[in-house]
Amino acid sequence: MIFDGPFGSGKKAAAAYAAAALLCRAKNGRPCGICPSCAQAAAGSHPDIFLFNPEGGNILIDQVRELRRQSFIAPNQSPFKVFIINRADRMNPPAQNALLKVLEEPTSSVFILLTENAGALLQTVRSRCRIYAMEPLAPDVIAEWLSSHPTPGQKAPTADAIREAAGRADGSIGRARQLLENGLSRPARLAEEFVSSLRGSALQIMEACLAASALPRNEYGDFYTECTALLAVDALAYPADAGYYIAVYEYIQQQRDKLLENNGSVFALSSQLAAFCGTIYRRT
Ligand SMILES: [Zn+2]
Repeated sequence: MIFDGPFGSGKKAAAAYAAAALLCRAKNGRPCGICPSCAQAAAGSHPDIFLFNPEGGNILIDQVRELRRQSFIAPNQSPFKVFIINRADRMNPPAQNALLKVLEEPTSSVFILLTENAGALLQTVRSRCRIYAMEPLAPDVIAEWLSSHPTPGQKAPTADAIREAAGRADGSIGRARQLLENGLSRPARLAEEFVSSLRGSALQIMEACLAASALPRNEYGDFYTECTALLAVDALAYPADAGYYIAVYEYIQQQRDKLLENNGSVFALSSQLAAFCGTIYRRT
């Protein structure tokens, strides 16, 4: 299976749910939540559920070989194993071809590939999978879910707080919940400053980028995520400038790859972002 959708659309949560449901001993098509298998799945310690994350930004052929090796070993306690490959779109062609061989082999394992861009997978890989598109949720769906699923042990949030968090969550229940519990994070505040500076002068853009460059590297990725969410909203809100917002959005996606690959300091990336926005701003 391929779960395809943008960052924050709940792919990992859906894969965890699917894996638990597949291996649940009650076999009701959903995790019963009480059998030993469900308890292990919820604790992230199920011996037959395997999660592969990119190493250094990419899924490497060695990781696919390890996955293949594991798929030949009998499951520990279940009828079959479940392999979840996070950011499967970050597999280079040799790794994808290795995966293709695994998918073609007659094992009883289940493979769930999580992608932000299923188009980056080889057609031969895609054709062997069932693709599920994960859509970002509408704010009122998120708000309804938050109202009916209060966090245990926490004071119930007001309707206003729920509406606000749902509106800012970019389609993700997880992010909405985080906003409700922790308020706006520092990367989110700086992203707001940056995106609103795009309607100001080149100097304001530079100041906003400089402020963001003080973030530690691990929070700078969150800054990018918040920026792209806000840019998508503004591209719709200001159709005349949509081209500008989309160009900045795409530039930030490229920078996010550089950040993941450890190419460039946060300060350098921030300065380049300021220069890029300032230059195209004057052109438009
Ligand atoms: Zn169960």
